[in-house]
Amino acid sequence: MFNEIVRDVYQIEVPLADSPLKATNAYLIKSAKGRHLLIDNGFNQPEARRSLLESLDALKVRLEEVDFFITHAHADHCGLTSVLCENAASTVWSGGEDSAIIRETMLAPQRADSFLGLNDYWDGIFLYMGKHGVPRAVLEKLALDHPAKAYSMDAPVDFSIAGEGDVLEYGRFRLRVISVPGHSPGHLALYDEREKIFFAGDHILSNITPNIASWGKYFDYLRQYLGSLDKAARMDIALTLPGHRVVIRDTAGRIAELKKHHAGRLDEVRGILKGSARPLTAYAVAAQMRWALRYRDWEEFPAPQKWFAAGEASTHLLYLEGLGELRAEDTGDLYLYSCNC
Ligand SMILES: [Zn+2]
Repeated sequence: MFNEIVRDVYQIEVPLADSPLKATNAYLIKSAKGRHLLIDNGFNQPEARRSLLESLDALKVRLEEVDFFITHAHADHCGLTSVLCENAASTVWSGGEDSAIIRETMLAPQRADSFLGLNDYWDGIFLYMGKHGVPRAVLEKLALDHPAKAYSMDAPVDFSIAGEGDVLEYGRFRLRVISVPGHSPGHLALYDEREKIFFAGDHILSNITPNIASWGKYFDYLRQYLGSLDKAARMDIALTLPGHRVVIRDTAGRIAELKKHHAGRLDEVRGILKGSARPLTAYAVAAQMRWALRYRDWEEFPAPQKWFAAGEASTHLLYLEGLGELRAEDTGDLYLYSCNC
């Protein structure tokens, strides 16, 4: 399924099975002569592949004529890349940091003493979330079927590295690469100055809030993300084309809403820590946060939702730690947080 958003720019909806996100938006920049560019793709799932190929076929675009751009390393945006460029000499643009992540997820070595029988990369992520208090049973469940793991690329790809300020020319568009880290460590967006179109990946989404969670590294990704929101707010954007859901006409308004959301979350986390007599893990904080999900209580949350909630709680805790508002203690087994008040 696709539709033409502006002349020569097609939004292609790629279905995501097993995901509350339901679909990823890939964008095809069609060129009258020369190569086309496909921005993002989808999970490495047969139905996603079939649907995307049907759309390209209906658009009379042959895979050999397509180059690819990956906004970030998450499998719902790049899982199909190796399958799509299997038989073609396509250029695959990706940021340095996120292409290294994609490579590591596939090629990291496995050790005999591995935590959950995964390779070093995934082990690092699961160990990290374990220290944030995610119980072993949740980790074990996710080690089997975490969508990011199950539906990611299955063969290495030769990436062409793109970075801030590079310009990619496809069809009638001059696309400037904009670095907007936060949702992933090296997230990239593309911007066409003439038409003021911003291909945002998951940096700015319309009716859902991009998940800001760290992937195994004790690093203040929320601060980085808010900085990248400010960067987009300073740009002259008429139309934002996001990686999920509908297009955004009022980008400044949406950025303000996202910042308000995180300010509210920070207040909520402050309140939970203030009300607690003992230090808490991110997982324990997440269990007390409000979530717009249809489950009766925290115990009913499925493993992936608990994992993502703990991830989100952890980024807000690290941000408050950076502000000096709370104390963090690494006991070796757990990260524990308490109010500095
Ligand atoms: Zn996404």
